[in-house]
Amino acid sequence: MISQSIVSELKKIVGPEHLLTEREDMLTYSYDAAVLDSQMPCAAVMPGTTQEVGKIVSLCHENRIPITVRGSGTNLSGGTIPEATGIVLLTGRLNKIIEINELDMYAVVQPGVVTATLAAAVEKKGLFYPPDPGSQAVSTLGGNVAENAGGLRGLKYGVTKDYVMGLHFFDAQGRYVKTGSRTVKCATGYNITGLMTGSEGTLGILDEIILKLIPAPKARQAMVAVYDTMDAASETVAEIIAAHIVPATLEFLDNFTIRAVEDYSHAGLPVDAAALLLIEVDGHPAVVAEEGEKVEALCRKMGAKDIKRAETDAERDKIWAARRSALSALARLKPTLVLEDATVPRSKIPEMVRALQEIAKTYKIDIGTFGHAGDGNLHPTILTDRRNVEEFKRVEEAIEAIFDKALGLGGTLSGEHGTGIAKAPFLEKETGWSSILFSRQLRQAMDPHNILNPGKITGVSQ
Ligand SMILES: Cc1cc2nc3c(=O)[nH]c(=O)nc-3n(C[C@H](O)[C@H](O)[C@H](O)COP(=O)(O)OP(=O)(O)OC[C@H]3O[C@@H](n4cnc5c(N)ncnc54)[C@H](O)[C@@H]3O)c2cc1C
Repeated sequence: MISQSIVSELKKIVGPEHLLTEREDMLTYSYDAAVLDSQMPCAAVMPGTTQEVGKIVSLCHENRIPITVRGSGTNLSGGTIPEATGIVLLTGRLNKIIEINELDMYAVVQPGVVTATLAAAVEKKGLFYPPDPGSQAVSTLGGNVAENAGGLRGLKYGVTKDYVMGLHFFDAQGRYVKTGSRTVKCATGYNITGLMTGSEGTLGILDEIILKLIPAPKARQAMVAVYDTMDAASETVAEIIAAHIVPATLEFLDNFTIRAVEDYSHAGLPVDAAALLLIEVDGHPAVVAEEGEKVEALCRKMGAKDIKRAETDAERDKIWAARRSALSALARLKPTLVLEDATVPRSKIPEMVRALQEIAKTYKIDIGTFGHAGDGNLHPTILTDRRNVEEFKRVEEAIEAIFDKALGLGGTLSGEHGTGIAKAPFLEKETGWSSILFSRQLRQAMDPHNILNPGKITGVSQ
């Protein structure tokens, strides 16, 4: 528990209406989108200014109080599950778009700005902020940077780290640190911006974020390719890339997911298909026309029995809304949903898809698979009931088998969801011990009292 005097100090900093300590409120901030044990914090504090954030961090540093920052809590790796002795710092009030600079093509935002809000604001100016996690309607840019979030356009446009030009943040001792710049190039000092991106609230509390913008593509063509076998669909992915075409989006849905999505979103997806590829090419209209034709021809050559092109913006929006609903649609089927994001080199996608089917059979569990196939980043989604102890044990074994397979294929434990608590126990399998030790020593140097999101990424002992 934190003392009454700390509660009074926090109240003084943010005002009583922006400090929560009731049990009902603490329950709200005790979990996130990962399937892990929840933990209630002592308080949740909602600063409205940079100065208030600085005062909170200094107070926590002086009194050794753990801080877990929380944007929208949509992360899938337990990154916002707080310490029982700590506080949650909510960024919801830090939600201003400070600047959109059309000439130099960057935006400066506070961490609580919702991803889709920035995307819509820059689109009005003919600009484009490509990172688009499936959760973009609710996720925050602070959360995206802290997780190095990916999304549906990673294949062509990269992920959040490719757009972070600079950051202002508070370190564990309450010092305000500025890294990067508003310039296209910046080679001054260490690349602290890179280090902070993906640091999951363990190295600092992000305040201002400078993000690169690019010109919006002039044309887009979305299509749905329908397959009778999962192999044909997954082999098409490698074939498209081998033809040196890089679609903006290249998503895979297996039959299990198609049926769940159609039942939920009524988007007109063919429920009898074994698999679908949802594809979008974008860019100059002439290039889009040419690449659209080529992709369609490749899909047919690889065995697509039907291709439906989106003829209008409304049809295009329907395709992507359906894809974005995949997680919610699957979540309706069973009480517990475990979504993984182990990632493989994209040429290994067919092998990974086959392995997932085998794993589902071996462990006698339901796995729906969808995701960013063009990035090698599938989301095998296990549907289960955590209260069924025997089944959940098989689920945990299956998860480890998925990790082992991905690593065996030269892949990684997480393409975009981060390490958090969920993957910390498996980190050594991928990185080896020296890398964990390096990371722990870095944290210890920067945060000697271990107050910034303890237990995440590098495990419990610092
Ligand atoms: C339906 C659904 C679809 C999703 N689709 C995708 C997807 O396509 N791609 C993808 O990458 N992820 C996806 N996610 C996961 C999640 O949305 C992302 O990880 C997102 O970046 C989290 O943003 P958030 O605002 O919810 O952050 P939170 O969950 O609140 O926090 C995430 C991490 O960031 C830290 N953090 C937050 N703000 C700050 C800050 N200001 N300073 C320092 N640390 C901070 C937190 O402490 C935590 O460790 C999806 C999740 C859901 C539920």
